[in-house]
Amino acid sequence: MSKTAINSGRYDVIVVGAGNAALTAALSATQHGAKVLVLEKAPEAERGGNSRFSGGLFRFAYDGVEDLRRVRQDLTTAEWGRIEAPPYDGDRFRDDIMRVTQGKADKGLTNIVIEQSLSTVLWMTELGMDWQWSVLWSVEQQGKIRFSPGAILEAKGKGVGLMAKLFSLAGEHGITVVYGTKMIGFLQAGDGRVTGVRVRTASGAEDIPAAAVVLASGGFESNTEMRARYLGPGWDRVKVRGTKFNTGETLRMALDIGAKPFGHWQGCHSTPIDAGAPDVGDLRLTDRTNRLSYPFGIMVNALAKRFVDEGEDVGGYTYAKFGRAILTQPGTVAYQIFDAKTVPLLEKRYNTGTPVVADTIEGLAEQLKLPKDALVQTVREFNAAVQPGAFDPAVKDGKRTAGITPPKSNWAQPLDSPPFTVYPVTGGITFTFGGVQVDHLARVIDTEDVPIPGLYATGEITGGFFVENYPGGSGLMRGAVFGRIAGEKAAAERKR
Ligand SMILES: Cc1cc2nc3c(=O)[nH]c(=O)nc-3n(C[C@H](O)[C@H](O)[C@H](O)COP(=O)(O)OP(=O)(O)OC[C@H]3O[C@@H](n4cnc5c(N)ncnc54)[C@H](O)[C@@H]3O)c2cc1C
Repeated sequence: MSKTAINSGRYDVIVVGAGNAALTAALSATQHGAKVLVLEKAPEAERGGNSRFSGGLFRFAYDGVEDLRRVRQDLTTAEWGRIEAPPYDGDRFRDDIMRVTQGKADKGLTNIVIEQSLSTVLWMTELGMDWQWSVLWSVEQQGKIRFSPGAILEAKGKGVGLMAKLFSLAGEHGITVVYGTKMIGFLQAGDGRVTGVRVRTASGAEDIPAAAVVLASGGFESNTEMRARYLGPGWDRVKVRGTKFNTGETLRMALDIGAKPFGHWQGCHSTPIDAGAPDVGDLRLTDRTNRLSYPFGIMVNALAKRFVDEGEDVGGYTYAKFGRAILTQPGTVAYQIFDAKTVPLLEKRYNTGTPVVADTIEGLAEQLKLPKDALVQTVREFNAAVQPGAFDPAVKDGKRTAGITPPKSNWAQPLDSPPFTVYPVTGGITFTFGGVQVDHLARVIDTEDVPIPGLYATGEITGGFFVENYPGGSGLMRGAVFGRIAGEKAAAERKR
């Protein structure tokens, strides 16, 4: 066995992966006195996992502006005067998770995320994380920024800024991060305790012992075979929004040593993205292929039929399931149609795509090669079904349709102001929902409901948190809350 720089260190805690979940775990373990090694399969240039691709949005519970002031101490009084941020307490966060997961999210794990969300954001702030307000699902009107409650805070510089900061903090805290180093197996004692990991680097395989291991190595969204096996027909061909390195082998290894599979293994987070997006995430685009302004227009499939209630809820509660809805349509494509009234409301990210523009619905159909009569009929019926009322993009305005299926429950305005603008979209997979079970201390649980000694997990590799859908910004929050817990508990193992 070759001895490399990795093994010369004698580490207390090994963290597998180098995304948000991993580095929060590593920082927490270090704060609790452990010597920490972080293993990243990707080369340094591609480090940071899905977390680097992300919008950096952290959903957390806050009772009011006083809580927000503790997080954003950098703002002036004048800047606070522009903020319209209704409270988002724990009950509201819980209601959101339970509503969108149809009551199926694990209640105990959900409560931990919610109860520790603010304290974890404050902990990250104390560590040195910089934040900015999120423009996603917020609207700027008359000099005020009106936020969708809960979706207010993102890391400065989004996922790229989040990960740059976490890597720099890891360096400041003396954490060793090694790249191009793939976990390929566990080291275990006779009683099943995890005593380290086996890795493969460019110079060969190596065993690295440690008092505890934290798995933070993502889901299986970038593994074609596992997608087909667990998510079902068609998922092998879906576009991947994030990193190509989340291929699920550590999840399989954990199951092989007895970890309990948990949560929605046929489920995933999947959103509308540009139909021309690359097959796998591109760090030059990060999350900018997303197409999330559909609540202000309509979406039709290749038969020119609507297929979802575009205004069912604020986008943050529907975007993670509408990718799947698009993937069930013929050709796995859809067309988001806006008119001159609503084009100004489109997110800036639409700039990365090329729209089709026409002065008439017939002209659109011709350019898009959609059935002309069907598209004209869909738009005519939709326009006739729009009920009176005031349109307000900042809240669920109840401006709805009547008498059509599917309905549009909010933000329904007739498409009657040319030119008409269309963005072709498909569904892209973000991350998978199935994973290993952890308990409230982030310990990995086995199939007999007993913790596997020495093994912890956080982030996408854990299951049970999200089912069918999720409220935007909960993925990073879940990873950081359980990363912080896992780091602390793993550090304590060195005193055993
Ligand atoms: C485009 C996009 C936008 C998103 N926006 C948001 C958002 O704004 N807010 C939000 O909450 N969530 C968002 N998400 C989801 C969020 O990014 C994930 O939930 C979160 O980043 C997962 O963090 P993680 O640390 O568990 O995994 P990752 O950040 O993916 O890290 C896993 C790491 O493990 C490494 N790894 C895998 N296998 C091995 C191995 N065998 N050995 C060593 N290393 C390994 C990978 O290389 C990777 O670096 C977004 C995701 C995408 C793709």
